[in-house]
Amino acid sequence: MGLAMATDAHGRRIDYLRISLTDRCNLRCRYCMPVEGISFKPHDEILTYEEIVRFARIAVEYGISKIRLTGGEPLVREGVVGFVRELIAVPGIESVAMTTNGTLLPRFAADLYAAGLRRVNISLDSLDPEVFARITRGGRLADVLAGIDSALEAGFDPVKLNVVVVRSLEQDLAGFARLTIDRPLHVRFIEYMPVGEAEEGSGCHAEGVEGWTREDSVPSDEVLDVLAREGARMGLGALEPLERESAPGGWGPARYYRFGGAAGTLGVISPLSHHFCGECNRLRLTADGRLRPCLFSDHELDVRQALRTGDADAVRHVIRSTLAEKPESHESRVGTERGMSQIGG
Ligand code: SAM
Ligand code: SF4
Repeated sequence: MGLAMATDAHGRRIDYLRISLTDRCNLRCRYCMPVEGISFKPHDEILTYEEIVRFARIAVEYGISKIRLTGGEPLVREGVVGFVRELIAVPGIESVAMTTNGTLLPRFAADLYAAGLRRVNISLDSLDPEVFARITRGGRLADVLAGIDSALEAGFDPVKLNVVVVRSLEQDLAGFARLTIDRPLHVRFIEYMPVGEAEEGSGCHAEGVEGWTREDSVPSDEVLDVLAREGARMGLGALEPLERESAPGGWGPARYYRFGGAAGTLGVISPLSHHFCGECNRLRLTADGRLRPCLFSDHELDVRQALRTGDADAVRHVIRSTLAEKPESHESRVGTERGMSQIGG
């Protein structure tokens, strides 16, 4: 026990835990969920809030200090505000953040802020209502835009927008860039990952998930070229790289830029074109209580049983094994059997 194991077998400091609160969602993004939803885990297979808090207390002993709540859609889980308050109170947890599709933020933003949450990432892949509805199979863009407004009004900082770039969607990248000019929004363009592909290159996705193909992944450098070109055309000035210190507080590998004078920033996250395994600082806990050493490996360790029996040493043992089993790199493997909604993207 103790802080000695704050590093993994490859010398990386692991201080960041992503927790999936649920595999359920109020949207059905094509690359994430089948139309009827996945075969959701029965209630008793999902970790209770109490079990998650217990896990967090033990994870702190191993150097975890930052937690991101994700899903599925974390805001569809009942009682989430009270849980956030409890998690933030765990000694040693310095910061808690949430990744959400934003649609329920109009209802929850102020309460989450009052509970102590300060950081929120909102996922939004299109600014065109019809395309948004198509991607999410019926979602309303207006709900997400209202969610963004609520987050800013409540005082969240940073508010980041996650945009997965998919070539065949022909997204209006410049339109997203414009959002950063007047408001402190931090838009991050993420390379689309063929997660949920059963076999690499097979084009076969986790059951019922009709994702896009590998050819739809757009390298971040291409995104930056488009932004620089379109920015110049729109009179936004030059796209300037930001030093790490002036980037919006990040725990991950985003590279940030800004158009001169803009209130917000633009970032790129390049899991495919720029391998950042060497900087990997995270573990993942799935909603059904499995610890996942690497997003791209289907290898998971069961910690639910140890949590249920109340055996803290058994939990410690699973954490230590997970740290020891973190691979050095995902190399070229990017396929997974479980879709993002199950892993907790
Ligand atoms: N429901 C919440 C949301 O949408 O933000 C949280 C869970 S969602 C699985 C987390 C993030 O994973 C979203 O930003 C989503 O766009 C992203 N995501 C899902 N599948 C992806 C994929 N194949 N490649 C890249 N990002 C993906
Ligand atoms: Fe739901 Fe997020 Fe998956 Fe979309 S990406 S279906 S919002 S969990």
